Amino acid sequence: MQHDDFSADPLAGLALDTLAVRAGHERTAEQEHGEPIFTTSSFVYGSAAEAARKFSGEEPGNIYSRFTNPTVRIFEKRLAALEGGERCVATSSGMAAILSTVLALLEAGDEIVASRSLFGSTVSLFNKYLGKFGITTRYVELGNLEAWEAAMTPNTKLLFAETPSNPLSEVVDIEQLATLAKRHGAWLAIDNCFLTPALQRPLDLGADLVIHSATKYLDGQGRAIGGAIVGRDKELEELFGVVRTCGPCMSPFNAWIFLKGLETLGLRMKAHCDNALRLAQWLEAHPAVERVHYNGLESHPQHALAKRQQRGFGAVLGVEIKGGREGAWSVIDATRLMSITGNLGDVKTTITHPGTTTHGRLNDEQKTAAGIREGLIRIAVGLEDIEDLKADLARGLNLL
Ligand SMILES: *Cc1c(COP(=O)(O)O)cnc(C)c1O
Repeated sequence: MQHDDFSADPLAGLALDTLAVRAGHERTAEQEHGEPIFTTSSFVYGSAAEAARKFSGEEPGNIYSRFTNPTVRIFEKRLAALEGGERCVATSSGMAAILSTVLALLEAGDEIVASRSLFGSTVSLFNKYLGKFGITTRYVELGNLEAWEAAMTPNTKLLFAETPSNPLSEVVDIEQLATLAKRHGAWLAIDNCFLTPALQRPLDLGADLVIHSATKYLDGQGRAIGGAIVGRDKELEELFGVVRTCGPCMSPFNAWIFLKGLETLGLRMKAHCDNALRLAQWLEAHPAVERVHYNGLESHPQHALAKRQQRGFGAVLGVEIKGGREGAWSVIDATRLMSITGNLGDVKTTITHPGTTTHGRLNDEQKTAAGIREGLIRIAVGLEDIEDLKADLARGLNLL
């Protein structure tokens, strides 16, 4: 990104695919073409006076890699550019991103209102751990804006949603939720893990913070754990304070992996979406399938909203198989290609039975409320050939 004729903001006006390849890297004196990995824990100073200026914050610069690291900074700048945010802070995992957000912004007595269909560890964090420190969370149906408003009190400081949801692909109108948050003086954080900035930019729609598990599509190839938060300078400065002090920082090597992942983000997400839609349409027509939950299908009740709000529908399908748990398990066990694992956001297609894995801790009543039926399987569609994926599912489906 370095030429002599740069205007003030060299990234202004560049498209997402360009930013994904170019943003954030300022070449060192070595004139390297690829992004360098700085595997160093600390940084040195030319003099005692310079060290003093850097420690006091009077002069910017690296001190210690828990605070800042040049490779991690490239990743942060690139993701901020992709999400259209002022600043990004990278973290050691997606959960560390969520924990850092609440540590930075909330205090005892504050309340969170969150969508019911959240990532399991997020629910544990909110209930089991934040509860210990006097922060309480209420859960509402993702798409029901009246329920969000009814759950809010003067102590509500944070609205937290994943859209689309896992595994039923439900959606909330981010713009309306942002309006609601503003009216009540609360922050809106959107976990954008399922779509990435290639398909959805919540900050453009009024959200205050975007949360990522970089572990998923940002890496895209199942290699490393990481996370990030993107938003305005004001809130991100608080978040940076938490990460630099409490230590859930991203490793430089992982940041480099995520940079390589981001370079192909647009291409991969398009290919994931194409495969997912084709598989969803094929499954919907299969006699052993009761229902396919995918907001890219016209049969999905929120298809119109998804089409308006998203630039693609993602690649996670909820598929209800005839024959309840037995039917679902037999389809999963008949696959030879798909990986039986709870992870997603990988070039490798994964298949799982939410009712006995990711959502296994819920009781029957909670499962019914969350729409997790016994015959439901989740498929996170990867980049294998679509005909091979169909054949892998047909083996089990055709026996039902
Ligand atoms: C995986 C995931 C997380 C947590 O991320 P980790 O990197 O595993 O800590 C949070 N939210 C969603 C939606 C996820 O899928």
